Amino acid sequence: MVFMIRFSRALVAVIGVLALLATSACETGAAAEGTKPGQLLIVTAFYPFQFIAEQIAGPRAHVTSLTKPGAEPHDLELTPRQVASVYDADLVVYQRYFQAAVDEAVAQNGNAHGTDNVLDTASVVKLEDHGPLGEQNNDPTDPAGITNLDPHVWLDPIHMITITQAVDRKLDSIDPVHRADYNRNAARLITQLKSLDAQYRSGLATCQRKEFITTHAAFGYLAERYGLKQISITGLSPDTEPSPARIAQVQQIAKAHGITTIFYETLVSPAIARSIAGDLGLKTDVLDPIEGITRQSRGNNYFTVMKSNLTALQRANGCT
Ligand SMILES: [Zn+2]
Repeated sequence: MVFMIRFSRALVAVIGVLALLATSACETGAAAEGTKPGQLLIVTAFYPFQFIAEQIAGPRAHVTSLTKPGAEPHDLELTPRQVASVYDADLVVYQRYFQAAVDEAVAQNGNAHGTDNVLDTASVVKLEDHGPLGEQNNDPTDPAGITNLDPHVWLDPIHMITITQAVDRKLDSIDPVHRADYNRNAARLITQLKSLDAQYRSGLATCQRKEFITTHAAFGYLAERYGLKQISITGLSPDTEPSPARIAQVQQIAKAHGITTIFYETLVSPAIARSIAGDLGLKTDVLDPIEGITRQSRGNNYFTVMKSNLTALQRANGCT
C-alpha cells in the first residue's frame, strides 16, 4: 500500500515534469527569442545579478531577470515560462533564501545542463542575520534564523566583487573558448567596484552622525561596511506596516540622534516615511535598495544609483 502511494506520487511527479517539459518545449522558442545564435542564455533572479552578468558576458550572452523592473523582488512569483527558462538556461544566477519561488524552481527541476550551471551567490557571500529590525535573531521558532537572513548583499561593493568573480568562474568553465573576454570584462567591473568602494569609504569617513533611518532594512551590509548604523522602520520585508508602537520608537530614536532625514525607497510607497518625517519636521529622501531599475530610479544602472545613494547619505548625515 505504502509502495502504491509512493509509486503514484512518483507517477504524478513524472507526469508533472513531462507536462512542464512539453510547455517548455513549445515555449523555449519564445523564451529564447532574445538569444541570438551562438549566444548563451543567462537567467538571473533580480537586477544586480543581471547587471553583473551583462557586464561580464557582454554580447556573448542574452541575460534576463526573473524579477521584472518595477516589481518587488521579495514576493516574486514565477510563470511556467520563467520556471522553464531556469531549466533551459546555460547559467542561472540566484541567491538562496531570498525568493522562495526561485529556490523551488531550482530545487524541483534543476537545470538541463546540471548543477555546475547554477550559481547560488549565498554559497560565495555568506548571508548574515541582521535581525528583523537590525537586532540579533532571537526567534525561538526559527533558531537557524533562515527567515532573518538579510539578502541585500549587493549594496556592499565588496560583496559585489565576490559575486563578480564567481560569475566569471562559471562562465570560464561553461564557455572556455571565450574565457579571455569574460576575464577582461570581469576585471574591468572589479576595478569600477573598487573605485565605488573607495568613494563610499572616503565619502562616509567623516559624518556628524552614524545613524540613518530607512523604511525597509535593506542597508545592513552597507552600514556595516562603512561604519554606519541602519535603523529600519519595517524590517526586512518592504510591505510590512509598522505598529504605532514602532513608529513612536523610531521617532524617539530620530530625536535622540538628531536625524535630519527619513529615507524611503523607489518601489514602495513613501507614506510611512512622510508621516514620520512630517510629525518631527524632518526631510524625506530616497535611499534605493537597487532591487530594480525603473524610470523613477535616480540613475540608470547599479553604479549611478549607488552614487545617488552615497550623495543622499552624505547629505542626511552631515558628511563632509
Ligand atoms: Zn529588499
